[in-house]
Amino acid sequence: MVKTFSVSTNNRTEMVDITSNVQEIIQDSKQQDGLCTIFIPHTTAGITINENADPSVHKDILTELNKIVPFDGNYSHTEGNSSAHIKSSMIGSSINVIIEDGKLKLGTWQGIYFCEFDGPRTRKVWVKII
Ligand code: ZN
Repeated sequence: MVKTFSVSTNNRTEMVDITSNVQEIIQDSKQQDGLCTIFIPHTTAGITINENADPSVHKDILTELNKIVPFDGNYSHTEGNSSAHIKSSMIGSSINVIIEDGKLKLGTWQGIYFCEFDGPRTRKVWVKII
């Protein structure tokens, strides 16, 4: 069974910590050990794992991604959000995290981040526990 939750973003590009949302789903499932797949069903957003301590890390990631793939360019896609589509493919649409003793097995400084590239919007996140 796939669980879904929503993420509301407030900016054009943004990284939102969704670690606790995913952990809550694992707790509700009572699953002690296994694998958790977190999937983003959008073509202008992504998901990644990165530092959860210093928020300037997210700022740097977004700033540099915006330099590599600027909002305005000589793009063919007429919707005006080509940079978001490209960033989505660069970052990726899914991650897998080990579940151990009913918890996400992440490094001390790691968090799971929903990456908005064409916000603000309300987005969906799918979680499958295996
Ligand atoms: Zn588009």
